[in-house]
Amino acid sequence: MSERAQQQPEQPSQDATGSGQHPEQPGQHAAGSGQHAAGSGQHAAGSGQHAAGSGQHAAGSGQHAAGPARLVDERQARQVAEAARESAWLQPSFGKQLFLGDFQLGLVYPQPRQDDDLARRGEEFCARLREFCETSVSGAVIERDAKIPDEVVKGLADLGAFGIKISPEYGGLGLSYLYYNRALIIAGSVSPAIAALLSAHQSIGVPQPIAQFGTDEQKQRYLPRCARGEISAFLLTEPDVGSDPARLSTTAEPSADGSEYVLNGVKLWTTNGVVADLLVVMARVPRSDGHRGGITAFVVEAKADGITVEQRNKFMGLRGLENGVTRFYQVRVPASDRIGEEGRGLKIALTTLNTGRLSLPASCAAAGKLAVKIAREWSSERVQWGRPVGEHEAVARKLSFIAATTYALEAVVELSSQLADGKRQDIRIEAALAKLYCSEMGWQIVDELVQVRGGRGYETAASMAARGERGIPAEQMLRDMRINRIFEGSSEIMRLFIAREAVDAHLAAAGELIEPGVPAGRKARAAAKAGGFYAKWLPTLVTGKGQQPGAYAEFGPLAGNLRYVERASRKLARVTFYGMARWQGKLERKQGFLGRIVDIGAELYAMSAACTRAQQDAADATADGRGETGFELASAFCTQARLRCEELFSQLWANSDAADVAVSRRVLAGRYTWLEDGVIDPSTPGPWVAAAEPGPSKHDNVHRHAG
Ligand SMILES: Cc1cc2nc3c(=O)[nH]c(=O)nc-3n(C[C@H](O)[C@H](O)[C@H](O)COP(=O)(O)OP(=O)(O)OC[C@H]3O[C@@H](n4cnc5c(N)ncnc54)[C@H](O)[C@@H]3O)c2cc1C
Repeated sequence: MSERAQQQPEQPSQDATGSGQHPEQPGQHAAGSGQHAAGSGQHAAGSGQHAAGSGQHAAGSGQHAAGPARLVDERQARQVAEAARESAWLQPSFGKQLFLGDFQLGLVYPQPRQDDDLARRGEEFCARLREFCETSVSGAVIERDAKIPDEVVKGLADLGAFGIKISPEYGGLGLSYLYYNRALIIAGSVSPAIAALLSAHQSIGVPQPIAQFGTDEQKQRYLPRCARGEISAFLLTEPDVGSDPARLSTTAEPSADGSEYVLNGVKLWTTNGVVADLLVVMARVPRSDGHRGGITAFVVEAKADGITVEQRNKFMGLRGLENGVTRFYQVRVPASDRIGEEGRGLKIALTTLNTGRLSLPASCAAAGKLAVKIAREWSSERVQWGRPVGEHEAVARKLSFIAATTYALEAVVELSSQLADGKRQDIRIEAALAKLYCSEMGWQIVDELVQVRGGRGYETAASMAARGERGIPAEQMLRDMRINRIFEGSSEIMRLFIAREAVDAHLAAAGELIEPGVPAGRKARAAAKAGGFYAKWLPTLVTGKGQQPGAYAEFGPLAGNLRYVERASRKLARVTFYGMARWQGKLERKQGFLGRIVDIGAELYAMSAACTRAQQDAADATADGRGETGFELASAFCTQARLRCEELFSQLWANSDAADVAVSRRVLAGRYTWLEDGVIDPSTPGPWVAAAEPGPSKHDNVHRHAG
């Protein structure tokens, strides 16, 4: 991609949309005019985590019983999500600046070295874990039996794998995020279900929120248990609550003397729930005298009276996952087991996820690394039409994509982990970008792997083994990978979440301009404030280091790619501004536009990670030769990523979004139901969402102890 590509016109063309709509020229409310410069996106982002958002001032709190769906309109859902946000930016953020057109390479390179002792302990643990996984774990057995054997769970606990990040003061290993995520890559490569078990426990289960928000007494009480291997789970989702936590209906009624809460409700898809000893439960406290109410987090003993795991759920992949439906009926929880204040539950969950989100990218990188190995070995061995299949260009392109993208995914995981360890930066955007990008690209990697394997890509490893062939689990990798785009914040929700953060500076500068119902005087003041902000900011987007031919020369062959990132970052900020100027308050509904803005940001973050990793590896000059060859992979990745970026930039203005929305409306209205003729719907009957009526359980309890 030539650097000139960046200089191409970036404003929407006259006949840009496939719908035939003619977008107006943006930019006419430019800075300095004091006019309506910024649109919004004010509540552009929904939530982020499993369902995220917050309950801080949860709309309509005070519902007393779980069961029938809470009636929550769009505005209330947005308010809940907005209240969950950490509104302050107390530390620098590479991601935030990237979206503002300010490429601050210094925030991500060079990364400080890990303390020698910490690195040594991390290496030793990873070596022990690797040996254990190689000698005592069979991914095939876990897949066959849909269960992680108890002795494997016990072995992991003996190694300390349930307390990797827990401080040694509480019996944990006290390792860094970097080594935690490297450990997940090892475990996730032998069995993604094990990575899910360990990460649901440590990234979103009890250890993380207790370490960050718990009292000293809670830390003393729970962290040693977690470190020893008592399994924990995180329970937010309900039948009616997925991406929208405002609908949460599990209740926590405070007792009259304030000593305890009584929980009632049903939680769905509780990873580890079937085997958990401890639960983090999100429940709504009704507002009353002395109780501010709202969604609140509790630690709950899984064996407490009134808790029933009614079913173990089965999925497309992750067959070893012990995921359940958990009912709470009159479950008494001591007030001392509340985490943080009432009403802060979702904020706690969201803050926890700012770093907790990095474990899914680690699982995706694990799949990528395995895909490189399988694709390389198979494609050089399998001969068709007189050549190894890897030498046919169509397959060669896939191999290049798999290898280059895996290099970038690992770079993203390592960089994001180092940023988390450094504790000097706000990494909410980087972690969210990592989750979004790694799960989307990881999916493409394993899909291409299945294609490269041909018919064997679709056959199970057990079937191949029964025929006497190597049992390669490519189809399982695809099935196991798919969920990463859905849980811990679906890709759609992650894009909204990141878009909200990306436009935050604009909202701070010009928010009231687009808010309905704001009096004229305040609007005028907001316009003046916005004018001041944009008069200073817009000129910074015109030129930058990316236009200086020798800039970033220390990165050798990758310098041109970093110049591209710098230029593209400014362009990204400009087009975001155009979008705001054009759509103003309606921008928050332009999910196609916002999604592409975020996807470009994700590519730029991944390019930054890949280039800085290559440079760091070269400086380290390790014996395995990655110093020299890493540049080749980083360069290949950047070439591919730049093409994707350019495509996304052009699609900002030339797309079928408006037409698609119109077609979708007609689909929803039933205009095309004739299209469904001629097929038989094999689904079993039943409601789309089962009613979660509160009350005692009518099922056997399938909870069991593991390990
Ligand atoms: C295997 C598995 C394990 C899980 N583990 C846990 C767990 O341990 N704890 C827990 O609490 N939860 C868990 N979950 C729940 C998971 O986090 C949710 O499935 C996820 O948050 C999505 O919610 P939903 O399935 O209800 O989808 P919905 O919210 O119903 O969304 C349906 C679709 O609409 C899209 N959508 C929704 N809202 C918007 C919007 N505003 N704009 C654009 N698009 C939108 C979504 O992206 C999705 O594509 C798990 C789920 C699975 C399948």
